[in-house]
Amino acid sequence: MAKEELECSFCGRKKPETNLLIAGLDAHICDRCIEQAHGIVIEESKQDSSGELSSELKLRKPKAIKGFLDQYVIGQEHTKKVLSVAVYNHYKRLLQPANNDDIEIQKSNIIMVGETGTGKTLMAKTIAKMLNVPLAIVDATVLTEAGYVGEDVESILTRLLQAADYNLEKAQHGIVFIDEIDKIARKSDNPSITRDVSGEGVQQALLKLLEGTTVNVPPKGGRKHPDQKFIEVDTENILFVTGGAFDGIEKNISKRLNMQAVGFSASKNDEAIERENLLKYIIPKDLKDFGLIPEIIGRLPVLTHMNPLDRETLRSILTQPKNAIIKQYQKLFEMDDIEFSITDEALDFVVEKAIEYKLGARGLRSLCEAILTDAMFEMPEGNSNQLVVDKEYAEEKLDKSGIKRLKAVS
Ligand code: ADP
Repeated sequence: MAKEELECSFCGRKKPETNLLIAGLDAHICDRCIEQAHGIVIEESKQDSSGELSSELKLRKPKAIKGFLDQYVIGQEHTKKVLSVAVYNHYKRLLQPANNDDIEIQKSNIIMVGETGTGKTLMAKTIAKMLNVPLAIVDATVLTEAGYVGEDVESILTRLLQAADYNLEKAQHGIVFIDEIDKIARKSDNPSITRDVSGEGVQQALLKLLEGTTVNVPPKGGRKHPDQKFIEVDTENILFVTGGAFDGIEKNISKRLNMQAVGFSASKNDEAIERENLLKYIIPKDLKDFGLIPEIIGRLPVLTHMNPLDRETLRSILTQPKNAIIKQYQKLFEMDDIEFSITDEALDFVVEKAIEYKLGARGLRSLCEAILTDAMFEMPEGNSNQLVVDKEYAEEKLDKSGIKRLKAVS
């Protein structure tokens, strides 16, 4: 058949009338029909998924939830356990058949207290992944009371809608992770008039979402699209997970425990242990003393803490989780048929540097990147198909890179 005679088997358009004509076994399809068909597929799948929640949600028992977390999150045993139970109860609450006894199971919103980079976000991400529900990650510091410069609290739900591909039903069963919740704690000295830095207004606005309410949400977010139709989102069944470093909260805890905190002269290790030990004793009252309003604390009934990452944990993070950093590099190299390995001494060296530069777990990735960039640049076109990174190699590459400058920043 001459090229001009080809036509779309669906709409009959001739090849010249289409932008693209794709050939199948005995038929052709044009770009327009593909798009139309794609639309139908999306529409159908939306209808399927907006039905029974129970068929979508992969709810496991607490031990299985923890088992899943174990694959991705190293250490933090206590928090993993607490979270497994909270998540289980939350979704049990959603899946309970409607009955007329008076027992109403309350939400299990969560608050995690611990230094940055200890895995709070990772924890929320992993749970969302396991349950196959949408997740929105927001930073409390950008939120402000309506009317101030910044984002309204409703923007949280816009993000969740986006994460759920605008499937309302899915969004309403999703998870919201609010990071840096400590930054909206009330502070008495507030010099700003353009931004509600006192945080209390934001806390009040947030409270309504946590409690469960219906909110008119601008689906495209914010003030840039004033004409959009609002979507009504019910937050009743959304699980809110919050996290914060709560710098200095140890003082409140130790005051409460009626003991003196160890002085600043103590070595870094002692400081970490000290912090870890004290965070273990955290109770809701400490959050109140820090500046969270009691109503918010009441709506975050599951309180847990994250331990600082010690050497051993950092070392494990490099190689053990399901998508551990080293495994990721191995996969990347493998795609170019390069066998990549790294010696134990080199791994220890990376951990040492992460601690020295105070980069925590976040820094492990940047350090590996700095060490491996040259190889990733040269090797795909080179002759060698093996890379063994030992301590000397790592030291040399790191010396050459600009990562040392990071030290000044921290
Ligand atoms: P946070 O939210 O507490 O600031 P993140 O969850 O964003 O910390 O952690 C930053 C990165 O460090 C994550 O992407 C993850 O790779 C790594 N990480 C931190 N803690 C752990 C942990 N306990 N187990 C595995 N990886 C971790």
